[in-house]
Amino acid sequence: MKYLWSDKEAKKCKDELELRVYTSRLLGCDNSLVLHGGGNTSVKIDDTLYVKGSGWDLSSIEKEGFSPVSLNALLDMAKKEQLSDTKMVKLQKEAISDKRAPNPSVEAILHAIIPYKFVDHTHANSIVTISNSINGKKIINELYKDYLIVDYVMPGFILAKKIYELTSKGFKWEECKGIILHHHGIFTFGDSAKKSYSNMIKSVQTAEDYLKNFKLNIPEQKRTKEYNIKKLKELIDRAKGYETVFKINQSNLALFYSNQPNLKEFSSRGVLTPEHIIRTKRVPLVIEDDNFKGAIEKYIEDYKAYFKRYAKGQTMLNPAPNYIVLKGYGVISTSKTQKEANIINDIINATLEAVLKADKLGGYLSINEKESFEMEYWELEQNKLKSKRIN
Ligand SMILES: [Zn+2]
Repeated sequence: MKYLWSDKEAKKCKDELELRVYTSRLLGCDNSLVLHGGGNTSVKIDDTLYVKGSGWDLSSIEKEGFSPVSLNALLDMAKKEQLSDTKMVKLQKEAISDKRAPNPSVEAILHAIIPYKFVDHTHANSIVTISNSINGKKIINELYKDYLIVDYVMPGFILAKKIYELTSKGFKWEECKGIILHHHGIFTFGDSAKKSYSNMIKSVQTAEDYLKNFKLNIPEQKRTKEYNIKKLKELIDRAKGYETVFKINQSNLALFYSNQPNLKEFSSRGVLTPEHIIRTKRVPLVIEDDNFKGAIEKYIEDYKAYFKRYAKGQTMLNPAPNYIVLKGYGVISTSKTQKEANIINDIINATLEAVLKADKLGGYLSINEKESFEMEYWELEQNKLKSKRIN
């Protein structure tokens, strides 16, 4: 892990919110910690929680990217027995002191519960890699003895409520170095921006050190098959209902991945962290021969069946794939715009590496299909998409 804190830079910050911006950017510019809008941070000043607003990216966040929310209002919400995420977002909005501010992060209540001035949250690749392995629970327990370790639940109110319940009675915060969320990420905290940031780097380094024993050492790969990509794109465009952009990845890693035996089962084991699902879907389209049409039809049929298995009144998203693994050729990310295709490509790249490493730890194991569906069709994620119309 790169430790990027600089006393000289920090001294330039005029107040605590500026320091909050400074270390948020340090976290945001490290792709192994967060990718494209992932993660969130906060600072408590008097009785206000300044928490990352939705739509902001940690790597480029400004002061205006932090939403000032009443701490007491958030703590009252944590005490509620039940709260839908839509209602939570509404109540959070009402508790903002500056109405021009963005919507607070869906993790705002969780930030409020943690009794430290600075709170940092990332989806560190190394931690989710270990967590997404068959022996993940055992390894995490061994590596993170002084941390609160929490089994996977949906982000939002359910997660905040769970942490509230685990920490409300007699919990010794002073002995807790951070919170590990299985299949999701990590929270660290401290009385200063430096402390919280340093705790994050130190904590993630622990997972990285562990993974050093499981290096991939991928031999030089070659493309072993060719496909009519123009034809494939035509068919994908038709399936999506609009003209797509293809981002082709033929890195050594992508080639190695696409050369794995039993490719369909191998590459259909789910997302690295739940927030990815909205961009990548749970599984890719796998192409192993020239029957593109048959493979696309089967993918869509399977997606519709998956939707039917779990849907309770939701509207189905576009059932066509968001990325494609082509046997012996590489991985293609596909979307309406080049920007979104690049984002999917970055997420998939991190996933390919994590899957291969987790297999070295005993086997990759993501959240299950039902949990994936709940995330993919989370009302708040659907709302986010409505504004962008990616799918
Ligand atoms: Zn998160």
